[in-house]
Amino acid sequence: MTKYNFYAGPAILPKEVMAEASQSAVEFGGTGLSILEMSHRSKEVAAVLEEAKVSVHELLGTSADEYDVLFLQGGASSQFYMTAMNFLGDDESAGYVDTGAWSTKAFKEASKFGNASIIADSKDTNYNYIPKGFDIDGASKYVHLTSNNTIFGTQFQAFPDSNVPFICDMSSDIFSRKLDMSKFGMIYAGAQKNLGPAGVTLAILNKEFAAKTAREVPTMLDYQTHVKKDSAFNTPPVFPIYVSMLTMRWIKKHGGVAAMQAKNEKKAGLLYDEIDRNTLFYGTAAKEDRSMMNVCFLLHDEALMDGFLKACADANCIGVKGHRSVGGFRASMYNAMPEEGVQTLIDVMKEFENVNA
Ligand SMILES: *Cc1c(COP(=O)(O)O)cnc(C)c1O
Repeated sequence: MTKYNFYAGPAILPKEVMAEASQSAVEFGGTGLSILEMSHRSKEVAAVLEEAKVSVHELLGTSADEYDVLFLQGGASSQFYMTAMNFLGDDESAGYVDTGAWSTKAFKEASKFGNASIIADSKDTNYNYIPKGFDIDGASKYVHLTSNNTIFGTQFQAFPDSNVPFICDMSSDIFSRKLDMSKFGMIYAGAQKNLGPAGVTLAILNKEFAAKTAREVPTMLDYQTHVKKDSAFNTPPVFPIYVSMLTMRWIKKHGGVAAMQAKNEKKAGLLYDEIDRNTLFYGTAAKEDRSMMNVCFLLHDEALMDGFLKACADANCIGVKGHRSVGGFRASMYNAMPEEGVQTLIDVMKEFENVNA
């Protein structure tokens, strides 16, 4: 039975990726061993790590001369402090754009290391929009952004104009759309939304931006340790990296990031159109800032909530319940969500309106 997995994360992955990954968990590529029991120094696993790294460059259009690709542990949440620890010196400052829960946490952690300040936020309206046109101090070391707000369903449609490098948390929209990489000093993403299983965090660092560490930091937390040892300073999380590599292969096979973007725009367009048309529902995010990845919507009549969730479950649409800080519903539609899954959810909404309106 197919279930359409609308959970925000851990989240849907392509079926063919999971089929191949499970095969490799039994026996990997004619080695007679499971990939789960193989050394990260073996030539087979080294080839996986290398392909994963090269694929990131291919999908982002970056060159290895300019950017380093790292596979780290500790989740995106560890990047909240590692970024500031490594890059924000005692006498330096950084601006943070607070667009919701994850960016609030990033700011809180950075404040422990240096002069971090919030330069724009949308807290006043429960983070239902992306602030625009705010000032960026040209002397800032970096500005931290969260490209897609998984919880509140908003997304930067365009990044601000500035010469200050951005550090961007792209946990929930990496590889979902084309990017102008020249704006970013660093990008990071926990894998478990749009890339792979939990357990690995992708980081892409501009070499020039990241060359100097701001203070003495523990070896494991120094980006340059992982740059120098090519993400294998200690035992890397081989299986999550492997599954992420398979997902990137899948993206390339299906037309690359541009094709993902076209498909994501189509899916989001279909669902938002239905939210706007259907008399029972309304969207929570400002229209111009709506996320293609996480679609948040509410019922005018909250008493119908359980009934709608049941109708979704009956149609094999799962994970549609909203995050407690927004309420209502959230449909997460990452790269691997097929259009037919979105169409199934839309059909449920239409039928629900027929019965309840
Ligand atoms: C899920 C999420 C995180 C947290 O990721 P962990 O890997 O669990 O630490 C951070 N930022 C964003 C935007 C997220 O969606």
